[in-house]
Amino acid sequence: MAANITPNQLIELIIPTITLVFSLSFACAWVYDKRLRYLLFLAASFSAFALGSIAQVAHLPDEWRLNALISASFYVLSTQLLAEGILRRAGLHFPVSMHSLTFALVMGCMYYFSYVASNLLVRIYILNLNAGLWMLFSAACLRKRCNGRIINYILFWVLLICGVSFFVRTPLTVIQPLPHSTAPFGQTIFWVLLQLSLALMGAVLGLVLLAAAMSDVIDRLILERDRDSLTDTLNRRAFERLAGHRIADMKSYPLALIAFDIDNFKSINDRYGHAAGDAVLREFGAILRAAVREKDVVGRLGGEEFVLLLPGTDGEFAYRIAERLRTVLESSRFDEIDAALCVTTSAGIAQYRPREAVAALLARADHLLYAAKRAGRNRVLTEASGQRSDASTLDVA
Ligand code: GH3
Ligand code: MG
Ligand code: MG
Repeated sequence: MAANITPNQLIELIIPTITLVFSLSFACAWVYDKRLRYLLFLAASFSAFALGSIAQVAHLPDEWRLNALISASFYVLSTQLLAEGILRRAGLHFPVSMHSLTFALVMGCMYYFSYVASNLLVRIYILNLNAGLWMLFSAACLRKRCNGRIINYILFWVLLICGVSFFVRTPLTVIQPLPHSTAPFGQTIFWVLLQLSLALMGAVLGLVLLAAAMSDVIDRLILERDRDSLTDTLNRRAFERLAGHRIADMKSYPLALIAFDIDNFKSINDRYGHAAGDAVLREFGAILRAAVREKDVVGRLGGEEFVLLLPGTDGEFAYRIAERLRTVLESSRFDEIDAALCVTTSAGIAQYRPREAVAALLARADHLLYAAKRAGRNRVLTEASGQRSDASTLDVA
């Protein structure tokens, strides 16, 4: 009956329930984006913890003394899976040998202190020490991998605090607060509070990890929304947004924009097929991506039109970059099309004018690009300094 449930039994029910809910949440997040494989480690870790706590209260016959070993093996597994999942999220991992050795060592100790020299306190010490060390070690590995993301800093601090708390918990766990009490330690309020604090810590860690997973899923969705999947460059909307950010930042000045358009692209499609045209687009996208620095912005505005925004670059330097990219494409060969055929591009370069909108900058670069087409294609046009960007006042490269 509900009225007869003791606080201890309630905790015994709460801990596996909470951890199973977390495990399910991580598994659901993984189903949503299967590339985030670290979520499987987290789901497995929380499941293992739930199994550990269920095994602990399963009340197998005492003479088997299996409870301790089974629950400990799940707890150790849970800790290691958690550490591995957290590291994998940051693109790192622990060596398998480290996992196997630790597992074997801790379980060897558990066996010894269960069957040879049975000692509950030592077993608690070892399990807490193991959990604390894995958490502190994971936090240390994450320290330099926060990448300026708030959720990563929160995760780092939560791991650190949880790791340290295991070292504090250990002496608390073995204190007898009421020396005159006749109740077994496992049934005292003090023990219940310790268990509750563990549940709370697990819930906080689970929530932070869930928030981190959600932010990863959202980041991926934003990336997909912003990417042109064929060329792996930004699409028009993302390009315009990022270009707006660069323009708003005075530190980016001088700022140059190169607009490219592949020459006679329609005839490539017509002669060799759409797939060959796609291969050319992919290759040019790769050429541009390989050429840019982190602060540069490269996008495909549509069809075979690409743009490159270069912060800290004046028109003259941008011209040299555009020329280099033009010759790289010209000398590229494609399996899909005739080896004798050169794929070329024309380009127009506009230098940013103070308070100008992105659309106006793009329009000026486009204007020069189409002047380059009219001038015979496979060339780069830039504005002569101080002149307006109409086709009659162009420097023809
Ligand atoms: P110009 O030298 O004047 O730029 O001529 P062009 O043939 O390159 O220009 P045009 O605008 O006539 O042709 C662009 C072609 O690009 C037409 C369209 O079918 C093709 N295209 C647009 N998007 C894609 C794409 O994603 N893949 C492929 N293969 N072709 C595309
Ligand atoms: Mg074209
Ligand atoms: Mg075009």
